[in-house]
Amino acid sequence: MTDSIFAKIIRRELPADIVYEDNLALAFRDKNPQAPVHILVIPKEAIAKLSDAESKDHALMGHLLLTAKRVAEQEGLSEDGYRVVINNGPNGGQTVYHLHLHILGGRQMKWPPG
Ligand code: IMP
Repeated sequence: MTDSIFAKIIRRELPADIVYEDNLALAFRDKNPQAPVHILVIPKEAIAKLSDAESKDHALMGHLLLTAKRVAEQEGLSEDGYRVVINNGPNGGQTVYHLHLHILGGRQMKWPPG
């Protein structure tokens, strides 16, 4: 189990600009946005990183991806497109060890990422 800042956001112990919530997931605006729209989608279950996900998390993983799609639609990003990113572990650039999907949109993305 991890107890990161995101766990505190789930428990409403830290403020966040929440844009979507259901029984399995929460989505809120990144406090240091890297694009005009930058939202994080997290599971309420404390999975530290993608590489810790297991077979039992199969449905939850699908739910997080479909939640990202739903939130992107809600934010008006569907027509122009957007990027969904998961940073995993030190080399992946992960800084908060509670699994999260970044939704980035509102500008042209570049490839490859840094
Ligand atoms: P990572 O580098 O993929 O782990 O992404 C962590 C993200 O969490 C970064 O984009 C941070 O800006 C963001 N972040 C950290 N603390 C908070 C917070 O309290 N509220 C919203 N976003 C946060």
